[in-house]
Parts: sequence; structure tokens; C-alpha cells
Amino acid sequence: MKIDPEKCIGCGKCRSYCTMWGGIMRFERDPKRPQRVICAIDEDECVECSVCLRSGCCPTDALYQPELEWPRILRKNFSDPLKVHPETRIPGRGTEEMKTNEVTGRFPRGKFGMALELGRPGVGTRFRDAEKVAMALAEIGIGFEENNPLTKLMVDRKTGRIDPRVLDEKVLSAIVEFLIPEEMLPRVLDVLDRVSREVDTVFVGDIITRVAKDGSVPYIDVLRKRNRFMSINGKSNVGLGWPLANV
Ligand code: SF4
Ligand code: SF4
Repeated sequence: MKIDPEKCIGCGKCRSYCTMWGGIMRFERDPKRPQRVICAIDEDECVECSVCLRSGCCPTDALYQPELEWPRILRKNFSDPLKVHPETRIPGRGTEEMKTNEVTGRFPRGKFGMALELGRPGVGTRFRDAEKVAMALAEIGIGFEENNPLTKLMVDRKTGRIDPRVLDEKVLSAIVEFLIPEEMLPRVLDVLDRVSREVDTVFVGDIITRVAKDGSVPYIDVLRKRNRFMSINGKSNVGLGWPLANV
């Protein structure tokens, strides 16, 4: 995102809409007319989410979206919820996770789907951090979900290495996604504990599973034994497409 210095009046309204909490906007004297204060965006920290522009907050239409070249366009693909990922044709972070499992059957019984959501509004993440997580998981033999835009950026899926040309790109959030046998969950949690101390962002882990026939949720005991915090804001797929994916 950019600000036209000829139009900006330095009112600061855009700052409160910025998903990076406005810290990436700085106010400075207009070098041409020092009596004026104008706003400028730190382009390295901007994730190209377009929230500031879409809000319509700017009274002088000074905000504008320049054309984005690759790899910068990746920022927009991963951060703007209205932008459709060209690789998966899904907007937002570009993956459906469990939302269509009753039709796709991506998560069969005996396996857990996992989605590690790196970055959050105000923090963001760089692909460098996603690579650290992916490489740590690859060391224990994790295979990554094919229909996921982050997987498509990997130059070596066996090691989790991401294209070095994109590592410094910053996005609002990116998801590392994979499937594991249920018994592998403790090992994965150990790896995540270690790598969580190596990344320069935050992440949450989603575990996706089918509810057992007796109504229990297979991973709850594993997490309880490890004193893991479980958030109540889970998503439930009630299976309206069943039995298309009755595997
Ligand atoms: S595009 Fe997003 S990150 Fe960039 S300045 Fe606007 S709100 Fe902030
Ligand atoms: S809202 Fe518009 S005029 Fe006000 S500081 Fe932001 S870009 Fe400048």
C-alpha cells in the first residue's frame, strides 16, 4: 500500500485501521512544504491486506494500491481475505482445512489433520518462520498438504524448504498443513515446543479429527496429559455431505 504525499494531510485516520496496529505508519514533515505533516507506510512491514484502503477512512483518497509484482504479490494473496489464491482458488489463507471434509474425506478415522496458523493481526509472519516450522516437522517425516498455498511455495517438500526468494515476504498469516497418524501427535507437539522458541511470531495449532462413534474426541486425553490449553472456539462440521466421504 502507498500514500500519495501530494494528497495526504497527515490526519492519522488510516493508522487506526492498519492490521499491523499502525506502528508501520510514520508521520514526517513534507520535505517540499515543511509546514505540512504527512504519513508514510513502512513498505517492509506492510502485508498488503488493503484493510486501510477498503475502510474508506482517508478523507483525501491519498491511499492507493500500486500494482504488485511477484514475490510481493504473495503478501496480498496471503493477507487480503478477498483475494483468491491462484494456486488453490480459495480466498484468505487459501485452504479449506476441515470445512468440506464431509465431501473431500481429507481426514479419515485414525488420523489427525493439523493446521499451524502462523501470525496474527498486529504481528504477521514472514515465510522464513513458516520454513523453520516446516523444516522441523519434515525432520520427523511429515508430508505436507498438497492443496495449500504454503506447500506450493516449497522447493523441496521432503525437507520443507521454501523458495529462498520469498523468505523475507511478510504476510498477515500463513498455514502449515499436514496429516498424521493419531499416535504421532505427542512427537509433533514436542517438535512444535522446540520450534516455537525459534520463530519470530506467534502460532496456534489446530487439530482436525472426526468425532468417535461414542461421541468422544480422540486427541483430548493427549492434550490434557500435557496440560495443553484448548480453546473453545473450535469449528464443527456437521457432515451434511455425508456419506460422500464415508471412509
Ligand atoms: S495494507 Fe494493511 S498492513 Fe498495509 S498499511 Fe494498509 S492496513 Fe496496514
Ligand atoms: S487517512 Fe489519508 S490523509 Fe489521513 S494520514 Fe492517512 S493517508 Fe494521510
